[in-house]
Amino acid sequence: MPQVFSSLKELIDYCYLCPICNERRMLDISIGPDNELELSSFKIDQNDLILNGWLTREQIGTKSTVNLLTGDFETLIYGGFDAKYDLYFYFYAKCPRCQSSFNSCDINLYHFDKRIEGPLDMDQETRYVSKGEITFSLDYDYPNNKLTIGFLGAKGKDLVLPIIDFDFSDLDKLFLRLKTFILFS
Ligand SMILES: [Zn+2]
Repeated sequence: MPQVFSSLKELIDYCYLCPICNERRMLDISIGPDNELELSSFKIDQNDLILNGWLTREQIGTKSTVNLLTGDFETLIYGGFDAKYDLYFYFYAKCPRCQSSFNSCDINLYHFDKRIEGPLDMDQETRYVSKGEITFSLDYDYPNNKLTIGFLGAKGKDLVLPIIDFDFSDLDKLFLRLKTFILFS
């Protein structure tokens, strides 16, 4: 952390698995450009991500098929429209149990590339670590290397720090470590 993913498959796997409680997170996708393209539905079919969209001005459907391993993609615009269309999408994942959430960066599909270019980065993430009445919220702003630690149910102001690579494999230990941060808040 922060992490760059080697493929969309790896990014989706990260979205699905909650790092706090190991539950499967709910995955959602947003698509753009805003006001031009809307997402109608998406599905993951083996190694393909299929994004069904809708061009709002033209009122025409689109379908982008992205290979999750290679990043190769194809965008089809229905009705014989010229298929030179750029779009972007990003993933949003939320855990139904602990509410921890994650946003990927924007992933661009430029029609002249036919393959996703650029790093697959993390963007924003929120994790909650709780015990009894006390909950710590950890808000990660990866592009700006910023971590905001909030204390819910405990006295203290939010702390803003550079990102710390905490160990989430032992939550009891992490909880105790986070408690020491209250002193500095
Ligand atoms: Zn969770």
